[in-house]
Amino acid sequence: MKTPRTNCLCLLLLILLAQACRKPVLPEQVPVQTHDAERPVGRAARELLSDSIYTSLTLEVQYMTGYAPDSAALGNLRSFLFRHVHKPAGIRTVITEIPPAKDTLNSLEEVAAIEKQYRTRYSKEGDAVVYLLYTNGVFIEPEMLGYAYRSNSAVVFGKNLHENSNTRRRPARTDLETKVLQHELGHLMGLVNVGTPLQSEHKDAAHGKHCSNRRCLMYYLIDTEESPTFLLQKPLPRLCAACRRDLRANGGK
Ligand SMILES: [Zn+2]
Ligand SMILES: [Zn+2]
Repeated sequence: MKTPRTNCLCLLLLILLAQACRKPVLPEQVPVQTHDAERPVGRAARELLSDSIYTSLTLEVQYMTGYAPDSAALGNLRSFLFRHVHKPAGIRTVITEIPPAKDTLNSLEEVAAIEKQYRTRYSKEGDAVVYLLYTNGVFIEPEMLGYAYRSNSAVVFGKNLHENSNTRRRPARTDLETKVLQHELGHLMGLVNVGTPLQSEHKDAAHGKHCSNRRCLMYYLIDTEESPTFLLQKPLPRLCAACRRDLRANGGK
């Protein structure tokens, strides 16, 4: 005959068994998209180039007051992307204005903090998102016009871009902005040898992740103040055959 003590033990065993069968409670998960967006440059190369995970692409462009992007340059960027990536469901651009920063941005961490505060879209459900930030100031490396700083993020230093275009012996804004945007997207697509492996020797060893071909869009001076002198000569630089071959081998067109 069962005593109350045995009954108690059986109940305890049942409770323990029920708990063991229940799904374990996992710590709160960090949204995958946010985490993905914080990967280093080049990590999203294949996702951007192929349509295996993402069939469309959204460019979320945010600019600080007074530094709106040049619409023709953004159009040229879209054409460049259509030429090199597989996004059969389309490429769209979403543009918003954000408040200006007070000072010079001293680090890419500060740039990333602005992104964190204002960015609204992340890659999900078949749509890859690239974030482009136009700042009002100059960077601590004042010669820089643009910088790809994370797997899906790049910054354009608006003030520098304005000062280096549309004046004597400087190229048209559209030309300069087009080349800086395309160059930074080239980095996000894994060029050169940063996420998209080399198919031939064309990496500029002295200037990491750039192409050794002086006429190539991925030449190291393209996103610096030296760039305007290159852009006064036509035709404007495009991706060289070696860079295009690398992109195709990693899922691009
Ligand atoms: Zn570069
Ligand atoms: Zn090249």
